[in-house]
Amino acid sequence: SGGKKAAFTGAECRKVDFSYGAEPILDGVSLSVPEGRIVGVSGRSGSGKSTLLKLLMRFWDVGSGAVELSGTDVKELNTACLRDLESYVTQETILFHDTIENNIKIGRLDATREQVEAAAKKAALHEFILTLPQGYDTHVGELGDTLSGGERQRIGVARAFLHDAPFLLLDEPTSNLDSLSEGIILKALREEGAGRTIVLVSHRASTMGVADIVYKMNSGRVS
Ligand code: ATP
Ligand code: MG
Repeated sequence: SGGKKAAFTGAECRKVDFSYGAEPILDGVSLSVPEGRIVGVSGRSGSGKSTLLKLLMRFWDVGSGAVELSGTDVKELNTACLRDLESYVTQETILFHDTIENNIKIGRLDATREQVEAAAKKAALHEFILTLPQGYDTHVGELGDTLSGGERQRIGVARAFLHDAPFLLLDEPTSNLDSLSEGIILKALREEGAGRTIVLVSHRASTMGVADIVYKMNSGRVS
C-alpha cells in the first residue's frame, strides 16, 4: 500500500541481558526473527515475553548485548523510523475518547473507510461494529464500559493491520477471544505473513500453531 514501506530484513537479539532493577529479567537472550516469518514466543507468566517485545521496540535499552533491526542497532534508529518499521499490539488495548473508526485509525489518520473496514474484517471485528447503533461512527464513550476485553483486543489488532508496518509485534493478541475469532485473525496473519515479519507472543498452543519458529522463554532465557 503506497509503496512507502521502510525496507525491513529481519530482527536479531544478540546475547541480550536486561533488568528493570536489581533482578535480572533477560539473561543472554539470542534469537533471530527472519524476514517474512512468524516467530512465536511462548513461556510462563513473568518469563520475560513482553519485556522482549519492548526491547525490540526500544522502549528500554538493553543492559548488554544488542537488538538489531535490518542489521542496524536499534540505538541508532530514531523514534520516527522505529514507528514506521513496527506495529505493536499490547496486552491491554487503550481506547481514546473518539469513534470506533478513529480508534482504529490511530497512527494512520489518512486511511479511508474502506481501508478501516478491511482491517476490521481481518481482525474479526467488522460484524460486531455493524451491530452498534452508529456502526463505525459510534463513539466508544457512548458504549461506556460495555466493550468486552475481546472487543478491545480486536480494535488493537485492527489498528495493527491498518498501520501496515513491515514488522508486527503481537503480545497475546487473541488471549480474550473465542476460537472462531482467533481463527479469523490467525488466518489473516498467515495470509499477510508473506509481506510481513511477525513476532507473536502467546501461552496458547492453538495460537503457536501459526508460527514458523517457536522460542520458549523460561526465567529470562530462550530455548
Ligand atoms: P505474562 O505472560 O504474564 O504477560 P511476561 O512473560 O510477558 O508475562 P514480562 O511482562 O516480560 O513477563 O515480565 C518479566 C518480569 O519483569 C516479571 O517478573 C515482571 O514482574 C517484571 N517487570 C515487567 N515490567 C516491569 C517494570 N516496568 N518494572 C519492573 N519490573 C517489571
Ligand atoms: Mg506479557
